[in-house]
Amino acid sequence: MAFASHSFVFLGPPASGKGTQGRRLSDEKGWAYLSTGALLRGALRDDTQLGRLAKPYLDRGEYVPDDIMLPGVLDWVKSQGGGWVLDGFPRTVPQAEALDAAMEEIGLSLPKAMILHVPDDELRRRITCRLECESCHRVAKDGEGENCPKCGGHLAPRADDASGAFESRLAEFHRLVVPTIQYYTDRMRGRIINGTGSPDEVWVRIS
Ligand code: AMP
Repeated sequence: MAFASHSFVFLGPPASGKGTQGRRLSDEKGWAYLSTGALLRGALRDDTQLGRLAKPYLDRGEYVPDDIMLPGVLDWVKSQGGGWVLDGFPRTVPQAEALDAAMEEIGLSLPKAMILHVPDDELRRRITCRLECESCHRVAKDGEGENCPKCGGHLAPRADDASGAFESRLAEFHRLVVPTIQYYTDRMRGRIINGTGSPDEVWVRIS
């Protein structure tokens, strides 16, 4: 028998609010949080082996292949046990299957998916003004100026939000993540949430 766990994955297109809402859920509940996009951007900046392997894909706005992504994330999941939020993982059906297998291996109940739905035109509007902290990777709120109020890091646009890379990420979302969403909804483990409106409005729907 599997033990109950509080494990949630956030799925949605780029700029749908996965990071903002995922962090808020982990903060409110005191659960661990991992953003695989932030992990990769940090690895790129620190020029680690993961960063060097992922760079060509990130530069083109493509997803990083499963064999590069899976080992680190699955190790993290196994070391956490229950009580975590994953933002941006899984993105593909093989990632979702591998995550379920890892949870089964450690005897915990399977994760549930929060699926944020935002129309493409609204996503394009959002990325034109999105800033992220280069140190803690928190997405800035409107009017926060040049520095992160949480850690003092520099707030800057993300390189992969430039319009060409953004359109490829959106295309990758439709090609790979939509079947992953189906994976969770087919198994009655996915809840589709309207991701339009202010972060507080979306949070009310999530809670
Ligand atoms: P995000 O910050 O979630 O928008 O992710 C930024 C980029 O990191 C994505 O466009 C992908 O290139 C890469 N990435 C993040 N998570 C994954 C994942 N689970 N699988 C493959 N690539 C990923």
